[in-house]
Order: sequence, then C-alpha cells, then structure tokens
Amino acid sequence: MKLFALGPVAMFPHTLEIASKQIPYFRTSEFSEIMLGSEQMLKQVTGAEPDAKVVFLTASGTGAMEATVFNCFNENDKLLVINGGIFGKRFVEICEAHNILHESINLKYGEVLSSSHFQKYSNKGFTGLLVNIHETSTGQLYNIELISKFCKENNLYLVVDAISSFMADPYDMQKYGIDVTILSTQKGLAVGPGMSLVILSNRIYEEKVKHIKSKILYFCFKEHIENQKRGQTPYTPAVRVAIEMNDMLKHIIKDGLENRLRTIKEVADDFRDKIKMTELKLPDFPISNAATPIIFPDNNAFSVYEILKNDFDTVLTPCGGDLKNIQVRVGHIGNHYIEENDKLIADLKKAISLSKGTL
Ligand SMILES: *Cc1c(COP(=O)(O)O)cnc(C)c1O
Repeated sequence: MKLFALGPVAMFPHTLEIASKQIPYFRTSEFSEIMLGSEQMLKQVTGAEPDAKVVFLTASGTGAMEATVFNCFNENDKLLVINGGIFGKRFVEICEAHNILHESINLKYGEVLSSSHFQKYSNKGFTGLLVNIHETSTGQLYNIELISKFCKENNLYLVVDAISSFMADPYDMQKYGIDVTILSTQKGLAVGPGMSLVILSNRIYEEKVKHIKSKILYFCFKEHIENQKRGQTPYTPAVRVAIEMNDMLKHIIKDGLENRLRTIKEVADDFRDKIKMTELKLPDFPISNAATPIIFPDNNAFSVYEILKNDFDTVLTPCGGDLKNIQVRVGHIGNHYIEENDKLIADLKKAISLSKGTL
C-alpha cells in the first residue's frame, strides 16, 4: 500500500524493524536513558532552550492539546485562538469545555491570516494565543513571524500545535518566542501513533504550570516533569512508540535536520510543479511542505480518493465537511522520495478519468 496520508504516514525500514520486536520492560535504567536522550534531541530539533521541559504523554495529539490548555491556563486567563478549520475549532471547544475565557479569529476557507486580523485584539487583556501552525484540515500554513510579533507586543504566551508541520517546515521555539510546542509521533516523526510531546519554555513552566491548581491526575504536567528528571513517566507509556521515536530522532540528527527538511521540500515542490500541468489546482494560500492540498474543479475529489484507494492501492488524505468533494491532501511527510511522484500523478489522472467515466 502506498500511503500519502497525514498520519500514520509511510514509515522507514528502520522503524518497521523495531516495530517487529519484543517490547522491553520499562522501569529500567536502559529505558530511562532512552527517554532522557529523546528529551535532549527533541529540544535540539525544536530550537528549545536548554532548560525547557518535555512532557511525554501517552495520548493522541488532541489529548496533548487539551492537557496543554488546562495545565497552562485557568479562569484568570483570556486566550485568543486562530480558528481556520477543524483543528482551530478543536482548540475553541477545549477552551469551552474547561471554562477558559477566549475569543477566536475565525477564518473562512481560503482566507489568509494577515496582520489586519490581529488589530482589534491588541491591548485587550489577552494572556495567551493558541494556534495550529499548519491547519491540517485546509492545508494553510500560518505566518509564524506575524503571530510571534503580535504575542511579543502584547506579552502573550504563545502555544503552537506544530503536529503536522514539525519535520516538514522550519521551526524554532527560541527564535519565535514560542512557549509551548505540541507534537505527535504519527506525523512528521513518522513513527506509530500513541504518544504526544509537549515542550514547555522555562518561562511558562515557572510562571504558569507550576502554579496552576487542577484536579487532574493522568495528564498532570508537574507530575510528568518531576518523573522525567529520571527519564520515566508516571504511568506506562506507549513503550514501543517511545523506542521508535528515539531511533527516529537519532536518524534525524545523524542525517542533519536541514537535509531532512530540504528533501521533503524538494518532494513537495516537484509534486506541485507536476500538479500545475494537470487540470487540478493548488490553493492560493500559503501551504506547508507536509502536504499538498489539491483542488478538483469537477467536485469529484472524494470519488477520486476512493478510486485511488480501492483500485490503485494508494491512499491520499480526504477532506471532511464542506471540502469533501472539492479537495484532497497529498502527504509528503514520512518515507517519500521524488521518484514516486510521476506514478502518483499518472494514477491520479487515470482515477480522474475513471471517476468521470471517460476511461
Ligand atoms: C493530526 C493533528 C492533531 C491530532 O489529532 P489526533 O487525531 O488527536 O492525533 C492535532 N493537530 C493537528 C494540527 C493535527 O494535524
């Protein structure tokens, strides 16, 4: 099966090899070494400061989004949420569920986030901003410089869900003053689903996390950070995924992060150049290297997705809701290379003809 989905993604042979092995016992010094090593490597690849804290949660990305909100903020806060699709809306729902005061910048499909959206929110008592830097549901990649500038000017804590942008687009916590980065194992890291990582600046840890009183147990960051000092989690982690992640981080650092990012950009750019020569269209808004949203002028996106899956054993990522028949997304994260693109384009063309009944 050819997987161009956005998580789980096509995995590398070294990950598949680990996935076939016995899972070890984990309350050991050997496993602690693995977790401490992963903490260091994650800080390195996200540009976190040396005393940043890393929380390893056994949860999907949404669990980490929700845990971040209630470990970092409470009823004294007022958050601004960038809501440009399914994941932005999820942050809004999380604020609602936890009674945290919030307002949102609501973007219509295709509307590009710009400085004008922020104007009316300056000096309005906001304490934090939540953004999914790549709104995976539409494919829009927001301008981190713009967001970072607004947060610095207004002294907001900046929380970035980088789940589908990490390892695809350049990212740097210190450069952009990012206080929280949320990652998940099954996207850019290209390993199994099951763990999410939350990287906290020392500032938000000292000023917020340490002082927030909450009734939660399993997702308590303070408890996780205390345990991680010795390389352990309070409860059983997804051990195999933790090992796959450690192995992947070592490969990334050995190959060089810049080289990894260059490869994925080359694959994405090549695919986009080839799409431009078909009847399909690319969106006008800025997009991530993680995925190419492609627009179907004949509104047959979902039917083409199904034909590719069922007849060509090739899985793209369909869109939900209003975009179902308009757009699909082709993932470039994971084990992909330029040479695959020609076959994918050829299969796409055949599937389009089949869907129109012209083949
Ligand atoms: C995939 C994704 C998530 C996490 O979704 P889960 O299904 O909970 O893993 C969160 N945010 C973004 C931007 C994503 O792409």
